[in-house]
Amino acid sequence: MNTTVDLDNPTLAEKTTAIEQLRGKLSDEVNSYCSDSAAAMVNEWYQWRKDARIDDLPIAQPNNVFPVPYPIRGYHSVADANLTAGMRVSDMQLKLNKVFGGGCWHKRDKDGHPVYIERAGRYHIKDIPKMSTMNGLFEFHFMMQEFLNRTIFPECSEIAGCEISKQVVIFDMAGISIGMLSHWPALNMLREMLSKDQLYYPECMHLTYIVNAPSMFVTAWKLIRSWLDPRVISKIHILGKDHADVLLKQIPDYNLPAFLGGSCRCSHMPGGCVPSVPLNNFPDLPRKAFVSLRHQVQISYTHPRHSFVYNLSPTEFDPPPTPLSSPLMGYASWLGIKRDSARASAPPSPVQSRTRYIYLRFTADHGRGIVVEVLWRSSNDAANEDGTLIYPEVLFDPQRAPIVLEIESPNRSGQLVFNWRIANFDEGQAPFPDPQEAQVPIQLEYSVDTEESLVEEFDLLPIKHD
Ligand SMILES: [Zn+2]
Repeated sequence: MNTTVDLDNPTLAEKTTAIEQLRGKLSDEVNSYCSDSAAAMVNEWYQWRKDARIDDLPIAQPNNVFPVPYPIRGYHSVADANLTAGMRVSDMQLKLNKVFGGGCWHKRDKDGHPVYIERAGRYHIKDIPKMSTMNGLFEFHFMMQEFLNRTIFPECSEIAGCEISKQVVIFDMAGISIGMLSHWPALNMLREMLSKDQLYYPECMHLTYIVNAPSMFVTAWKLIRSWLDPRVISKIHILGKDHADVLLKQIPDYNLPAFLGGSCRCSHMPGGCVPSVPLNNFPDLPRKAFVSLRHQVQISYTHPRHSFVYNLSPTEFDPPPTPLSSPLMGYASWLGIKRDSARASAPPSPVQSRTRYIYLRFTADHGRGIVVEVLWRSSNDAANEDGTLIYPEVLFDPQRAPIVLEIESPNRSGQLVFNWRIANFDEGQAPFPDPQEAQVPIQLEYSVDTEESLVEEFDLLPIKHD
């Protein structure tokens, strides 16, 4: 044949011809085997997606407001986020979050593959069966796989300019005990998970690094590798404590967390690069009622800035009779309230305070992108008029899906200041608008979400609007 086929973009007719030509070259026996088994696999895959209602799973994407199923750092289609106790997060996800060691899609490798990091050594393995059934675990796991396929791979492909459909996985075994490696129910769960992945999500692993593997891991690995396809095994690298050089060959220094030998710390996010409840760098997430304080404002190139201030101060407050069991205990310490009468009669509390977060959601529908910063002005600190930066300036692309920021609040009363501005001419990717376009107002919509009881008890009030 003299015609040239564009291998990257074959037409349907070209594909059909190619398949027929290939069939013609195979023996009848091979041909029937291939087509039957392939058809059976595809049918089974479709049936499974239907039965497990995979397409109905609430997967976070740029065009919806679903929460992320797992923490994410360094992507633009979904902003940096942790798991939150929001409305669309199931109780099972919150329970598992307590006993999982912590995982995160953390930026990209040098070839543009997403990097997934799991603190595998920090799992509270024995508690997992208490928190979830096998089906519950599968659902959680499939949500992660779907998030990877529907949201992360498309973005990585767009950035790399070629199809990216495989990820790099790092299992950090630091903290693992012999009890975990020989815990049969956990190994059984792992085997089930691996078999489902090989069946329903094949070929989506580029490389896997198992780092900080202790010498006793060798025995467990002999067992685990017997469950894996030989092609999968060839892509798995087992490394001890000296793993940094190997990882840095694949992942840029600034994209690799410091605890794995890189320089990234993600200090703008609670929990840093890979939040972990068992490691205590991220709080457990009890389900609470959240209220959303909504605002809508127009900005433009002639008025490119917008600020909003919340006053956080306690209202009249009577200490509850049983302070230790009261959820207000945490708020009291957050806001620095002295409650001597309660303390005097109470034994030392294990719950001194917990980190509090305020969730800021916003969308800016067009423009060059929007820059956000958040400041804290202590009410006792008149000298520091400008306040303390608690979320430094970050530029976000304009998008209709809300960007959700999780902002850690200091343990004091005062004012929370949100500042927005349109990106300057030397920031961002989008071209500077022409004079006519610059006249079109940009709709900025935002809401501040916070725990309902916090608003009720502490009078979270908007005080200034400009
Ligand atoms: Zn990081």
